[in-house]
Amino acid sequence: MTDEQVDVLVVGAGATGLSAAYALQRAGRSVLVLESRDRVGGRLWTEEVDGVDLEIGGQWVSPDQEALLAMLDELGLETFERHREGESVYVGLDGERRTFTGEVLPVAPAVEAEMDRLTELLDELSAQMDPARPWDMPGATELDHVTFRAWLDEQCEHEEARDNIAMFIAQAMLTKPAHTFSALQAVHMAASAGSFSNLVDSEFILDRRVIGGLQQVPLQLAARLGDAVRTGHDVEKVCWHDGGVTVACGDLTVSARHLVLAIPPTAVTRVRFEPPLPSVQRETRQHQSFGQVIKVHATYETPFWRDAGLSGTAFSPYLTVHEAYDNTNHDEDRGTLVGFVSDVQADAVLALDADQRRAIILESLQTYFGPEAASPLTYFESDWTSEELGSGAYGSSFDLGGLTRFGPRLREPAGPIQIGSSDVAGLGFQHVDGALRVGAQMARAITDPTS
Ligand SMILES: Cc1cc2nc3c(=O)[nH]c(=O)nc-3n(C[C@H](O)[C@H](O)[C@H](O)COP(=O)(O)OP(=O)(O)OC[C@H]3O[C@@H](n4cnc5c(N)ncnc54)[C@H](O)[C@@H]3O)c2cc1C
Repeated sequence: MTDEQVDVLVVGAGATGLSAAYALQRAGRSVLVLESRDRVGGRLWTEEVDGVDLEIGGQWVSPDQEALLAMLDELGLETFERHREGESVYVGLDGERRTFTGEVLPVAPAVEAEMDRLTELLDELSAQMDPARPWDMPGATELDHVTFRAWLDEQCEHEEARDNIAMFIAQAMLTKPAHTFSALQAVHMAASAGSFSNLVDSEFILDRRVIGGLQQVPLQLAARLGDAVRTGHDVEKVCWHDGGVTVACGDLTVSARHLVLAIPPTAVTRVRFEPPLPSVQRETRQHQSFGQVIKVHATYETPFWRDAGLSGTAFSPYLTVHEAYDNTNHDEDRGTLVGFVSDVQADAVLALDADQRRAIILESLQTYFGPEAASPLTYFESDWTSEELGSGAYGSSFDLGGLTRFGPRLREPAGPIQIGSSDVAGLGFQHVDGALRVGAQMARAITDPTS
């Protein structure tokens, strides 16, 4: 048995926990980070699979993500631009495959006009929202009591316009069907990225990648923290009182004045607290759930789609893979496509066996990029739905009405315990940028409680 005493115990070695620990250590506090898994990074995970480096988790960086960009600078990490030259592909409601350049989908003029109108409306709504306090915006309660799907149905008669606008928030971001979350949650997703226009602009939101992979951020933070980071320590129980916490984990017992619980809301509900957390703290987390997305990586001898004048970017709310991109690594001759299968499409393919799943997913890629897409050298599915510590991807969000009902209490500490992850961020919500912002805020709440 080992007893350790530190100023701050951090649970969770994702971007949130490690950035909080790093800030605390630099502020002169003694810290210890306990991580359940045998690796750091959480939802950031870069791994070689069948000889190809893959971003199994998060990967893209956009120009508005100032906290992440500052961290990349600080850690000396370099980025490269996603390949985007050439024509993109869209498959519409009529099942036709059309190519296009720029950000405007090749839809009928009436559908385009409706998509423009809805985009303007969502931009106006998100401009009225402080993403750190979505419940304060005018009309928040009404927007939180209606599903995004019902709200879209009310706003617009064109099915294809509605389906495309829904896709950018539902399949592409919250990874839940548009009938399961509120219009307010949709506006929050847009506001957290600066605007709805930013979200639909893949040139903007999926701008750059980190050379060597985005997991470099947690890996390098962990390296700086040295032996203050311990993997393979699953924290199951926290004993606490106003003056501090005690956590027993295997043969290690840690006492600390503060606890930073940097784990997703669903993981908080796995931990037992003595005494129990205040009921509102527990209930809040029971109303946040993960979306579902399968990230598919298919690597080919060459990026063959570029020879056909295609960028590798493709969208369709009607195909199993609703979006795809050229995900070729920096300085690599082989070409990689990444595709995403989300919400109810993910439910459907997860019910199939592995061969059937691969066939149906590659069928979408063939529709977008031609018959060569059928035969990748390597094929890999990042399936976060089977990860017990998160049970989904990319992040969690509130059910209908939850944002206004529980949101205002979300960031309250419980005695010496701060709880947060990218799932509770304002700016950068569900993104690494948000994780770093929440990590910094939790560290500041300890070092400078009056701020
Ligand atoms: C497939 C996928 C694609 C994504 N794409 C992007 C993208 O392109 N760009 C972007 O910015 N973001 C993206 N994201 C989201 C981004 O990865 C996350 O928002 C961010 O990494 C979350 O960091 P976090 O530290 O808040 O949480 P996590 O990364 O979930 O870290 C929490 C950590 O806590 C640990 N833990 C949980 N419970 C316990 C316990 N009881 N005891 C000890 N440890 C525990 C977990 O193992 C985990 O390591 C993506 C995510 C996924 C899954």
